[in-house]
Amino acid sequence: MNVLVVNCGSSSLKFQLINYDNRDVLAKGLCERIGIDGRLVYEPKNGEKEVTEAAMPTHVEAIQMVLDALVNEKSGVIKSLEEVDAIGHRVLHGGMKITNSVIIDDEVIKVIEECADLGPLHNPANLMGINACMKLMPGVPNVAVFDTAFHQTMPPKAYMYGIPKEYYEKYAIRKYGFHGTSHQYVAERCAELLEKPLADTKIITIHIGNGGSLSAVKGGHSVDTTMGFTPLAGIMMGTRSGDIDPAVLPFVMEKENLTIDQAVNALNKESGLYGVSGASSDMRDILKLVAEGDERGTIAFNLYIKRICDYIGSYFLYLDGVDAIVFTAGIGENSIPVRKAVVQRLGALGIQLDEQANNVMGEEALISTADSKIKVFAIPTNEELMIAKDTYAFVK
Ligand code: AMP
Repeated sequence: MNVLVVNCGSSSLKFQLINYDNRDVLAKGLCERIGIDGRLVYEPKNGEKEVTEAAMPTHVEAIQMVLDALVNEKSGVIKSLEEVDAIGHRVLHGGMKITNSVIIDDEVIKVIEECADLGPLHNPANLMGINACMKLMPGVPNVAVFDTAFHQTMPPKAYMYGIPKEYYEKYAIRKYGFHGTSHQYVAERCAELLEKPLADTKIITIHIGNGGSLSAVKGGHSVDTTMGFTPLAGIMMGTRSGDIDPAVLPFVMEKENLTIDQAVNALNKESGLYGVSGASSDMRDILKLVAEGDERGTIAFNLYIKRICDYIGSYFLYLDGVDAIVFTAGIGENSIPVRKAVVQRLGALGIQLDEQANNVMGEEALISTADSKIKVFAIPTNEELMIAKDTYAFVK
C-alpha cells in the first residue's frame, strides 16, 4: 500500500510517498515559497534530485505539482495516481477532542478549524493541504495524525496549570505538548532496542532540533512533556525562550513600549540560543563560539544543556527511575558535543557515556557504556513513517 505523507506549513509543503508494506520511501521532497513564487524539490528513490521553479499561488498548485512529479514518465515512481492508496497529513493541534489519528471527515475538519485558535500558524496551513488533497484526489482516504494526540494520555497533574480553573473550563487552557509523533516513534523504537515489551518500559525522549521538547513516556504513553499550551514552553530552543517567569512579559512590555504581539514574538523568534548568544539559533554556530571562548555563546550553550538536564532529573523522579533516555531530531541525532555535555552531567543517575559510541551522526546507536545503569540511545526520528503507519492501519 502506498501512502502519501503530507506536512504543510503556511508557505511550504513536505511530502513522502511511502510503500508501507516494505517501508520503502519511493520519493520525497518539498514545495517552498507557496503563495510567493514557488519551487519544487523532488527526490525520487534511485534518482537525481530535481528542482523546478513554477508558480504555486496556493497549496492546490503545489500538491498538483507533487502529483505530476510522482507520475512523470522520466522521474516518476508510480504509473498512475491510482497507486496512491491513502494520504496521511501531519496536523499540529487536535485540542482535547482528538486523542488519536483519525480518518478526515467533516467533523474532523471542524475540530481542526476550531483548534486554529490554539495553533494559529499551523492548523490553517494543515487544512489547506487537506483541502487541496481532497480536491485533487477525490475518493482517496485522508488521515490526520496530530502532534498533540500522543500527549493526551497525560494525567491532570501533568497537564493542568496552577491557575484559576475557569480558564481551563472556559478556554481549554492546559498543557497540550507537541512533537508527539516523534516522541512516540523513538519511544517505540527504543523499546525494540531494549528488547522489552513497550508496556513495561519507562523512557525519557529528548527531541531537540530547532524546536525542542522532552517527554516522559511510561508503557508507551506520554505522561508528561515540556512544551505546553503552545510550543513556547519547556527547554530553551533555537529562537524560543522556553520556560520563563510570566511576569517578565508585562515588565518588558512596559519598559520597551511593546505590544503583546511584539513581546510574544520576541519570546518566539528572538530568544533562545539566538537571543542569549546574540549570534545564531543554530547549534553548529554556537559550538564554534564555545570553541572560540565567546562569552555569550558559552552562556547560551550552558543554559541550553542545563535546561535539558533539569527536565531529565525531574522526569527521572516522576517516572520513579527509567530504562532509557533517547536523543533525537536535528541536534539530538547529529550533535556529538551536545549529547556528550548532557550525558556527562547525568553521573548521579549512574549513567556513563561511551565516548567512542557517541561518535555518530544521524545513526541509531547505544551511546552509554555496558555498565551504565540507564541506557542512552541516539535514534533518528521518522515522523513520516509514523504517519504512514497510522494511515495504513486505518485504511487497511
Ligand atoms: P530540526 O529542527 O530537527 O530539523 O533540527 C535543525 C537544527 O539541528 C539546526 O538548527 C541545528 O541547530 C541542528 N543541527 C543539525 N545538524 C547539526 C550538527 N551536526 N551539529 C549541531 N547541530 C546540528
